[in-house]
Amino acid sequence: MSKKIQSANLVDTWSSSLKCPLCGSPVKVNEYAGLVCLKHHAFDFSKHGYLNLLTRPAVGKYGKFLFDARHHLITESSLYKPLHKVLRDLILKDAPEAENSWMMADLGCGEGSHLQSVLKACDLPLVTGLGLDISKEGITLAAKKYEGSIWLVGDLASLPLADRSCRVLLNILSPANYKEFTRILRQDGIIVKVVPGPGYLKELRQALYGDNEKRSYSNKHTSDLFCRHFDRLDTIQLNYRQRLNGAELQLLASMTPLAWSSDPERLQDFVRQESAWVTVDLDILVGKSDRTD
Ligand SMILES: [Zn+2]
Repeated sequence: MSKKIQSANLVDTWSSSLKCPLCGSPVKVNEYAGLVCLKHHAFDFSKHGYLNLLTRPAVGKYGKFLFDARHHLITESSLYKPLHKVLRDLILKDAPEAENSWMMADLGCGEGSHLQSVLKACDLPLVTGLGLDISKEGITLAAKKYEGSIWLVGDLASLPLADRSCRVLLNILSPANYKEFTRILRQDGIIVKVVPGPGYLKELRQALYGDNEKRSYSNKHTSDLFCRHFDRLDTIQLNYRQRLNGAELQLLASMTPLAWSSDPERLQDFVRQESAWVTVDLDILVGKSDRTD
């Protein structure tokens, strides 16, 4: 079975969780394996199996090179393994119904490796993953690498998802649109947002910008905004260091926008090291819907 048909079958079973990105009406998969809404807006599956539901052209900031690097670093190094474990524990604690089918969406999923790692760690066979990103390059790579999840190119500001369609929402080191997140989160669902703490990748920042680097920041604003939209259940501070080898340091530099504006010589010095410790400092915000209607 082609990837296109496989994806069309999967989306068909979840079509009530989607909506038309143009007019908001319900959608279904038609006999030609395309998605069509009540008002006849139609969207084709790509040959890799994803759907492009953008209603206007978007210029992605990030290219294939960055997503390739992200894919390799996330799936082959140990850098984010502790994060995936914490997310798994959180999800199994708050959404443990292994006997029900529900949807776990990662919004701003890039090339989908975090979502796929978390799904694998949770090992809930009835749960379906849905990854959405504005970048076609990211979603193309996700659809090529990972079967069994729904991959959508779409806009956070106008999500092609039905009201209250998602049991678990992930938003990992990526921009948010809380109005839309609130709309699609189920009443019994949880949202998990991962934001960088001040020490996140500090060795890379120090190597690129020196001691006087002014790129550290506070995430208080993000955290306050989150609490205005959701009932906060928990904030987990996750701070650890992992040792990366030279090849992994190169991948890290390739996937980090920080490196783009840096001095090329400093960058070379960083990636030429045989190995180095790298700090992962993250705040994990967990919330639930505060809507009562
Ligand atoms: Zn429509």
